[in-house]
Amino acid sequence: MEDIIQTLEILQTTAQQEFLATTDQETLNNLRVKYLGKKSQISQAMKLLGGLSPEQRPLAGKKINDVKNFLQELHDSRERQLDEEATQKKLAEERIDVTLPGRRLLFGKKHPVTQVLEQTEQIFRGLGFSVAEGPEVELDYYNFEALNFPKDHPSRDMQDTFFVNDDVVLRTHTSPVQIRFMEKTTPPVRFICTGKVYRHDADISHSPMFHQIEGVCVDTHISMTDLKGVLELFVEQMFGKGTRLRFRPSFFPFTEPSAEVDISCFMCKGKGCRVCGSTGWIEILGSGMIDPNVFGYVNYDPEKYRGYAFGMGAERIAMLKYGIDDIRLLFENDLRFLEQF
Ligand SMILES: [Zn+2]
Repeated sequence: MEDIIQTLEILQTTAQQEFLATTDQETLNNLRVKYLGKKSQISQAMKLLGGLSPEQRPLAGKKINDVKNFLQELHDSRERQLDEEATQKKLAEERIDVTLPGRRLLFGKKHPVTQVLEQTEQIFRGLGFSVAEGPEVELDYYNFEALNFPKDHPSRDMQDTFFVNDDVVLRTHTSPVQIRFMEKTTPPVRFICTGKVYRHDADISHSPMFHQIEGVCVDTHISMTDLKGVLELFVEQMFGKGTRLRFRPSFFPFTEPSAEVDISCFMCKGKGCRVCGSTGWIEILGSGMIDPNVFGYVNYDPEKYRGYAFGMGAERIAMLKYGIDDIRLLFENDLRFLEQF
């Protein structure tokens, strides 16, 4: 009897230490089997009760139950603690700090030349122009001949041409689109064309490939006044209200008369600065009334129809608009540069 009591007390002390030392559910479960399971010392002690005297039996039985209840409670409370700890740990791991700065999404930006091309199309669409396209690899006929550049004529030297063969060139301007469009269309016509053109030329203001914007309008009563009116609306929207125009006589094979067009410097408002070279004016495009010879190539009656045409470099517009002083920056695709626009 004394032995049983003593054994149970030692068992209780040892088990208590072990239960309190557990740090995970699996160990706790093993301890439950060890101390409270069917093969535990407590279960063994129950079996010994039958061999005790009737006086000793209740005392020993009570002791066994006390120890068993004590261990059961110890197990249950430890289990609750471990549950609670696990929950807290999980919450801590999944905690969201709403004060942390968000992850920045990187948005692409449109290239400054693309912005100019899109804005130009938008302005001219608003003025009732449609948008035309044409091939970049072009026949000599469309690039030169039908635009009144006769073969062996010195005017062909105005443009440094990339030849594919004797009859095929990389187009040197978007003007061949005029011919292709007018061939298929009966007047009135009013369209612009934007696209890549190629010239054998490279320095801080010239690139072998650049973008041109071309505009054409043909009808029965078109004059230089219409050209000037349309261009005034365009430059005011592109460079800002109050931008003025100046026409200077010039020469292009496919227009007669021809004019270079300057705008009043939008930086200094005409006072003179670095951008306009102290003149107060900036050259931006070439234009003129379409030469009657050109109408001959597209079967328009030159007695009946008149039209104007203009062309400009998109890179030049972008450089002026955004204050870029080297055309090569537009083609290096340096993101640090492009992100500024
Ligand atoms: Zn200026």
